[in-house]
Amino acid sequence: MVTERPCFDTHCHFGTDGETVRGQLERARAAGVVKVLAMGCDPDANRGAVLAARTAPDLALLSLGFDHSQADSLTPDAACAFLREFRDDARNPPLACVGEIGIDLHWKPGTEAAQTPLFEAQLGLADEWNLPVSIHTRESDEAILRSIDAVPQRNRKGMRGSIHCFTGSWELARELLDRNFLIGISGIVTFRNAEMLRDVARRLPADRILVETDSPYLAPVPMRGKRNEPAFVPHVVECLAKLRNVSCEEMARQTTQNAQACFVGG
Ligand SMILES: [Zn+2]
Repeated sequence: MVTERPCFDTHCHFGTDGETVRGQLERARAAGVVKVLAMGCDPDANRGAVLAARTAPDLALLSLGFDHSQADSLTPDAACAFLREFRDDARNPPLACVGEIGIDLHWKPGTEAAQTPLFEAQLGLADEWNLPVSIHTRESDEAILRSIDAVPQRNRKGMRGSIHCFTGSWELARELLDRNFLIGISGIVTFRNAEMLRDVARRLPADRILVETDSPYLAPVPMRGKRNEPAFVPHVVECLAKLRNVSCEEMARQTTQNAQACFVGG
């Protein structure tokens, strides 16, 4: 049974219906979730993230960005102009992160050249603002590493953030850890066929693991088939605790501390 433990959902998406968002945030609070990072990725998800941050400013941190799905319709300049304008307007909630951003060659094979400029422009913006990023990668390991290495890092703190919903190999995880990133573990770790991810989750250094739901997708066992939401993130914590042979309390404490340091500037 999932009891109340302070968890931090580092990657979740919200819709734009106020009542639904309010309910999701209330249930998260009741489940012991102390922070969620409300994540954009396209215009609708960006609106949903802003709505969550306005609805519960103490609970929901805001991340805005444009992912691979927007590479055909949005120039890097237009994406950055939107983000700058949003951030400059004092009436808006503060930005805690840029994301999600990334490169996906599973859904869009052969389009690396088209996706890369949008990704790198937002990496550069996050560096300029000294903000963390939340990165999506799928069948694009080489491309993601190339971009991370290519973007000049002006900030002393260097580039940082999460590789969200990680499903890659241990070798990829190591490359990303070497580059200062944390690894976001989603409900996929609870799935029957996710043995490779469980192996990675066992081997990660304790101070480099984050938990997330990536809601509304990927509901963890035992919530499979339901619409995922931040209140389910304790199930990810519970699974990780078992894999790593620590208590759920310790797993929640450690991942929350990691997330605070990355996204709240602790
Ligand atoms: Zn996402």
